[in-house]
Amino acid sequence: MQKNILVTGGAGYIGSHVTVRLHEEGFQPILLDNFSNANKSVLEGLKKITGKVFPCYEGDVLDEALLGKIFSTHQIQGVIHFAAKKAVGESVEKPLSYYKNNVSGLITLLEAMMSHGVAQLVFSSSCTVYGQPDELPVTEGSPKKPANSPYGNTKQIGEEIIEDTVKSGQRLQSIALRYFNPIGAHPSAAIGELPLGTPNNLVPFITQTAAGLRKELTVFGNDYHTPDGTCIRDYIHVMDLADAHVQCLKHLETLAENHHFDVINVGTGNGSTVLEAIQSFEKVTGKKLPYTLGLRRPGDVEKVYAAAEKAKEVLHWQAHLTLDDAMRDAWHWQQKISGSDKSPM
Ligand code: NAD
Repeated sequence: MQKNILVTGGAGYIGSHVTVRLHEEGFQPILLDNFSNANKSVLEGLKKITGKVFPCYEGDVLDEALLGKIFSTHQIQGVIHFAAKKAVGESVEKPLSYYKNNVSGLITLLEAMMSHGVAQLVFSSSCTVYGQPDELPVTEGSPKKPANSPYGNTKQIGEEIIEDTVKSGQRLQSIALRYFNPIGAHPSAAIGELPLGTPNNLVPFITQTAAGLRKELTVFGNDYHTPDGTCIRDYIHVMDLADAHVQCLKHLETLAENHHFDVINVGTGNGSTVLEAIQSFEKVTGKKLPYTLGLRRPGDVEKVYAAAEKAKEVLHWQAHLTLDDAMRDAWHWQQKISGSDKSPM
């Protein structure tokens, strides 16, 4: 019997790639998405890759009645909770909207899980909880730093809500995966990152610039204390990240105790500068990227990359794909969407 996994935000960037891997690993993904930051074409992409049409509920994670219907209709084994707003800048302008969506959304989901006896939860957290770490690579034991945006705060609060619920004795087994910088796309180019409007992340900016959709790329800051002066990030291929979720579910299934909370970094363990990322893109695509060096962007941390040992020990997972692999796949995806009327521009 296939195990049903509810994937909130399943039509989004990471959720769609995880959906593919869940299917390949014998799970039945059940999607819930309000399509506030996703395009329906994702569902066609999922069908193209898997040959399947997965149950997909169009609706909000804040909708108690809808969650009740999903949990009563399908026997859900576990939940992967991606549904969240994620634009750091927007969260500064609209904090209440972020707290409502990301924090109230999580609470609504947890209440529905508790009342339907669903105990396993994988939560999308972020390396933003570390701020600028004092030591690198950053381990899970490193202190959390005060969040520098409401978005980042929703991830910290989210982790605390789950931990407190576990401590209260509720039957809940949960792992918060702290993602570093997810990039790339499915190698088929049938799904990928589809930012609506101006992207917040580097790689869609790179690919849109290379595709001629943007005139020039600005690199924010070249006077950081890094080898070439630009910020350092731990870029992780979204397919590797997807695998980590499957491993996480498998790990939760093995737990003897009913109450469990843990946090695990999901990164490669290697840092790359922004200029190295650009060079990787230029190398694998043979395209020259027009870019200028601009001022630092407020709120950006200088460097962060993961200590990846805990993921290896606990989840038996490590990243296999390279920055070059991710750039190649991101470019194939960009070429596909630029050539279709589904371009986000
Ligand atoms: P995404 O925006 O592509 O996916 C999120 C999906 O959730 C979207 O499809 C959106 O329509 C949906 N959604 C949002 N609010 C909803 C709600 N209230 N009800 C139902 N659906 C809702 O983002 P992503 O990059 O796939 O990120 C997934 C998760 O990972 C998020 O929680 C994000 O904060 C976290 N995360 C992402 C990154 C990153 O760089 N992409 C890094 C760290 C953590």
